[in-house]
Amino acid sequence: MSEALLEIEDLKTYFPIKSGLLGRTTGQVKAVDGISLTIREGETFGLVGESGSGKSTVGKSIVRLAAKTAGTIRFMGEDLHALHGERLRQLRPKLQLIFQDPYSSLNPRVRVGDAIGEPLLDHGLASKADVREKALQALESCGLSAYQADRLPHEFSGGQRQRIGIARALALDPKLIIADEPVSALDVSIQAQIINLFRRLQQERGLSYLFISHDLSVVEHLCDRIGVMYLGSMMETGPREELFRSPLHPYTKALLSAVPIPIPKLKRERIVLKGDIPDPSNPPSGCKFHTRCPFAVERCVHEAPELRSAGGGRQVACHLA
Ligand code: SF4
Repeated sequence: MSEALLEIEDLKTYFPIKSGLLGRTTGQVKAVDGISLTIREGETFGLVGESGSGKSTVGKSIVRLAAKTAGTIRFMGEDLHALHGERLRQLRPKLQLIFQDPYSSLNPRVRVGDAIGEPLLDHGLASKADVREKALQALESCGLSAYQADRLPHEFSGGQRQRIGIARALALDPKLIIADEPVSALDVSIQAQIINLFRRLQQERGLSYLFISHDLSVVEHLCDRIGVMYLGSMMETGPREELFRSPLHPYTKALLSAVPIPIPKLKRERIVLKGDIPDPSNPPSGCKFHTRCPFAVERCVHEAPELRSAGGGRQVACHLA
């Protein structure tokens, strides 16, 4: 088995709720509330859940865009949040974040070739003499042409902009890419092209991905293992095939029931969840999912289920699973 590249242990990321003239802290939003996961070299881990489940905060905590409250995040064997100075500068390029909308991270007045080259110069990974060549290589690896390097971001379609975002990350020769809803804003046919690009780059370069999505049908085609988050906690984890074939947690079952099956004669029974995801600053007692769970019993209201092994590399947090 390949080595662990990223190890997250009992990660908690809480955001204070401030109120009043003095801005006193009156509560906390527990965006991530004690999750653990491991990503091995060359592996893709899919993190799924509805909006508000905390999955994007996990990504931001890893790259230190959000300050963690507790827990450890180890990358290439080093405690990421304890690193400073030169060592942090050396490790940073190895860990890249790709957003849903790469347009927001591109300066509209900077030509894309320069936008790809800038981080290379910042990190000292290219000289002024060879930065353009490296930027062009990254563009071409992502299915764009060298002549497009002199164009401005607004001259590209949504799918092409996502390719530019990937090229920008790729130019830094990363080990792990955290992709946060990278295809959610794209048409289905373009989504497939971008997912194929992620897959090809992984095969060519041995990359690892943390692929964050609200859509299980997206992670189905790319991920080796999947974690399902709800209100900051992990509800279920396991290998992709087993999780899709026989989901154990009622929340996973509900999410999967909404995924279309490509065979018209086959139909899944749709499980429609009641209401919206509760307020993370005031989560339900016991099992956080009990207010929407069709199988909830009295015990679920009072007692939070542990995430426990279910065999075959699977884990589930449900009293009845
Ligand atoms: Fe549903 Fe209870 Fe299981 Fe939670 S512990 S998922 S409420 S059955």
